[in-house]
Amino acid sequence: MKVLKFGGTSVGSAKSIKSVIDIINNNSESGKQIVVVSAFSGITNLLLDGTQAILDKENTIEDICAEIVDIHLVVIKELIEDKKVKNKIFKFLHAELDKLKQLYKGISLIGELTPKTEAKIVSFGELLSSFIISEALVLNGLSIVRKDARQLIIANQNYTNASVDFKITNKNIQEFVSSNDADVILVPGFVASNKHKETTVLGRGGSDYTAAIIAAALNADSLEIWTDVSGMYTANPKIVKQAKPIEQISYHEAMELAHFGARVIFSPTIHPAFIRQIPIYIKNTFQSQNRGTLITDRPNINPDPVKGISHIENITLITLEAPGKIGIPGVSKRVFETLFLNNIHIKFVTQSSSEHSICIGIDDNDAEKTKEVIDTVFELEISKEQINPLIIEKGLVIVALVGEKMKSHQGISGKMFSTLGRNNVNIRAIAQGASEKNISAVIAKNDIKKALNSLHEEFFEDNIKQVNIFITGVGNVGSKLIHQIEQQKSYLKNNLSINLRIKLFLRSRTMLFNENGIDLKNWQEQLAKSVKASLTSYFNMVKQFNLRNSVFVDITANADVANLYQDYLKNSIGVVACNKIACSASLEKYKELKYLSKKYNVPFLFETNVGAGLPVIDTLSNLITSGDKINSIQAVLSGSLNFIFNYFNNEVSFYDIVKQAQEEGYTEPDPRIDLNGVDVARKILILARESGNEIELEDIVNNSFLTEKNLTADSVDDFYESLKADGEYFLQLYKSAKTKNCQLKYVAEFSKGKASIGLKEIPEGHPFYNLKGKDNIVMFYTERYPEQPMIVKGAGAGADVTASGLFADIIRTANK
Ligand code: ADP
Ligand code: ASP
Ligand code: MG
Repeated sequence: MKVLKFGGTSVGSAKSIKSVIDIINNNSESGKQIVVVSAFSGITNLLLDGTQAILDKENTIEDICAEIVDIHLVVIKELIEDKKVKNKIFKFLHAELDKLKQLYKGISLIGELTPKTEAKIVSFGELLSSFIISEALVLNGLSIVRKDARQLIIANQNYTNASVDFKITNKNIQEFVSSNDADVILVPGFVASNKHKETTVLGRGGSDYTAAIIAAALNADSLEIWTDVSGMYTANPKIVKQAKPIEQISYHEAMELAHFGARVIFSPTIHPAFIRQIPIYIKNTFQSQNRGTLITDRPNINPDPVKGISHIENITLITLEAPGKIGIPGVSKRVFETLFLNNIHIKFVTQSSSEHSICIGIDDNDAEKTKEVIDTVFELEISKEQINPLIIEKGLVIVALVGEKMKSHQGISGKMFSTLGRNNVNIRAIAQGASEKNISAVIAKNDIKKALNSLHEEFFEDNIKQVNIFITGVGNVGSKLIHQIEQQKSYLKNNLSINLRIKLFLRSRTMLFNENGIDLKNWQEQLAKSVKASLTSYFNMVKQFNLRNSVFVDITANADVANLYQDYLKNSIGVVACNKIACSASLEKYKELKYLSKKYNVPFLFETNVGAGLPVIDTLSNLITSGDKINSIQAVLSGSLNFIFNYFNNEVSFYDIVKQAQEEGYTEPDPRIDLNGVDVARKILILARESGNEIELEDIVNNSFLTEKNLTADSVDDFYESLKADGEYFLQLYKSAKTKNCQLKYVAEFSKGKASIGLKEIPEGHPFYNLKGKDNIVMFYTERYPEQPMIVKGAGAGADVTASGLFADIIRTANK
């Protein structure tokens, strides 16, 4: 004999009820089935919220009832074709609704809801659903009988969270089932009655419990909980996308996970099955072939000490402190007693020594009441200032790691807390039982997604690290980067265990986002349909996502974007920038960003600031971290100036060559920025700073090769005119180099704390001499490379190489 329970999620629509019928049909060979059903999806909430809305006069009885009827009618119309049966159900539905209306009228008149009435109201969900489903089963030719659980399950006077009298209940169930021949017995879940035949209910999620009570009474072969997910997962699959079903788990572990919020099974359900050693299967109604989870006393050997992570929301921490050094005896006793007497459920406890302070987690809904009763109990001590009035903090969450084998493994709590710490999740309180089946921490609600996902990554994901990317500036370079990421995604996952997800990007004040990662195949079309945004709203969005391993990628040259880096870093969001503005701004700003990156333990990387995709800064930082010292740096760092001086000779004027460089996109739209050396100065400044020198942009000696006229030109046009006018001067520069068999190169140098930039005649044989096209070169002379420098050379400009430099930085953030 089997007991099957179908939850609200499995009976939300005619289509899903048809799946339920299929499952029952497929099982018909294997003997008698007791089927327990919940209310249709959403109905219990609607009944309760409706009650509140009527009490608050926010909604009318007619409206609430109409909504309830509508939900049922939609299902009935699609599920039941037989007219006669349909009418029978309609009649039943309207008769029940009339009763419900009477109850609603009653509470509306009195303006008060007693637990007794609440239980009656909330029982309608299961009474209606079981009636409708039983008629559908009959129409499917099954031999079925419906039995009202209120006649079987007898409980105490606690109307909304009733405790079962197993002696009478077991007897009732056994007698009824043994005297009944039907193949299927259908029972509404959740509802029970007390010995006065008044309706009670078993607590939210209680249909699971109904099924377990019946399974235990009948010593059933198995108990199957059918729901909308394929088992009990390593974490709530709605929040942790990488969560996986747990194949087998012990009763105790399942109980702990359920107790700490894995509501896929109502935690009291497990105990009756455990006592009788009845295996519990959690299965998916919509994917019935999936294995699901087996809860058993002898789960197969799974070496993982941590089985799952769960969480409970809406937690309030109450803290009672005795400021005096000596503890007041009996404080804890009085606190617990008061909570018990006031029916306040305790979810979490920590206590520091000598009863100096005690900290308890309760439901948010109980917060005010608790403050009132505790402050009253300790009124005298509070007036004598021996005890402080109760401190309450609402809106928190308990996160718990669960696993029976944790106690025999060292370092799990260490790993848990360091993972949370690394991801900047502030821990408000910690509890770990001596049996160590669970380790729990209280954190802010805001951090829940980040906390669950990073813990899951740490304990379950074979070291697959998800990096969440937020891009600003999707122009030429950005598009290339997106393309490269798309191409490399599976390689990174398979070979480096890195899962890259672009969550959001911004182009020309339009923002495209997707919490699950943007589909990179057709992002252009998606962007065209996306929403308007400002830099601030974009930042707020990234902040709101509050994801672990978040990286903001700046592919603009915009000062306003650079000005937001500190805000990103302070929110534990890493920054990868090809924008040079921040690193070449004041030393104070540069140092602040470096400091914030360290303080919040998030990467701030800007490899592409110098030499585009060339590993210049990474090489420098590797030299320094391995203990080398930089003696000097010599470099050619401007792709545009290289292009200009490589092609400039006595057959073409300097003016023409600059124009050509601009037309071919090798210079900025305003070529003065390249020609006056500012861009090169910024680059050598960054290298000098990264070498450990405190230096400002103004400290760099700029030996400009431009004439006074060029330098004072007011506009781009004027500048070009001045280049034309000074043609002879530029020709002389070329000729002078040529006669000495030298090449003209724009060189940046750094030595002994001083940096300079300027045009140089480079003799044959020098590493700079043969530099081609837009190539860059950087020579590091160090203590370990005193004579023969370490050289980094290659294309130093271009969208593709810049994108790959950014890509490399993103990968570095993942490896950090
Ligand atoms: P039913 O209506 O079938 O009783 P519930 O909504 O009560 O379904 O429970 C199923 C839901 O439990 C899932 O849809 C999922 O969102 C949630 N859930 C929370 N934690 C877990 C977990 N660890 N494993 C599986 N589901 C979980
Ligand atoms: N319908 C009830 C609830 O939503 C019982 C259940 O579904 O298990 O809490
Ligand atoms: Mg449930």
